[in-house]
Amino acid sequence: PHMSANEIVIAKGIVKRFGGFTALNGVDFTLKRGERLGLIGPNGSGKSTFVNCLTGALPFEAGSVHYEGQDISKLAAWKRARLGITRSFQIPRPFRGLNVRQNMEVPLAFTVGMSDQSRIEEEADAVLDQVGLLGKATNNPRSLSQVELRKLELGRALAGKPRVLIADEAMAGLSDSEVDEILELLMKLNKAGISIILIEHIMRAVVRFSERVIVLV
Ligand code: ADP
Ligand code: MG
Repeated sequence: PHMSANEIVIAKGIVKRFGGFTALNGVDFTLKRGERLGLIGPNGSGKSTFVNCLTGALPFEAGSVHYEGQDISKLAAWKRARLGITRSFQIPRPFRGLNVRQNMEVPLAFTVGMSDQSRIEEEADAVLDQVGLLGKATNNPRSLSQVELRKLELGRALAGKPRVLIADEAMAGLSDSEVDEILELLMKLNKAGISIILIEHIMRAVVRFSERVIVLV
């Protein structure tokens, strides 16, 4: 489809089936450049599945995804990540054998393609500073609290230098003040130019964050 200059992602008619079960039945979606978009809907409505289709984690049966004017419908997930689409997982998935800083180094090396180790470490620390984890750089992820794990997850996404960040239930199970911390972090990233899709059940957070909300049913 024709993309206007202010649209960064357009999905059209996405159909995703699991066997005989249709999880997404022709979903249309747009994300504007620099936008803070809320994506809501009941459990099982297909939010995470849709994200998987956007990021390339799952193939889909029909429809298309365009990003920055390019058809990325069939592109491998790692290539989409390289182009700037990244996500955090609903259930944090740190590399448990690596410390917090090393968790940032993986996307810096493999997604961004940096090769100079000392520059990678500098950049990893810059990301950790951004998400408020610099003091925990040498910790193992196992020693982190729930909110710190969420920050690690966002940091890993951020280390991939995204233009589009998808936060899939990054706040579930957190206290009110911890939710505010994550919200502030997402706001800061958005101000730095990243378009953000926030998938969240905590309506207070969705309402505060979102300029626009899309509902999956
Ligand atoms: P949400 O994130 O909105 O809670 P999901 O995208 O996780 O919803 O799930 C949408 C529907 O697709 C659910 O009914 C779920 O059981 C089903 N589903 C998700 N992933 C798979 C899978 N890998 N295999 C089979 N069914 C799946
Ligand atoms: Mg989900």
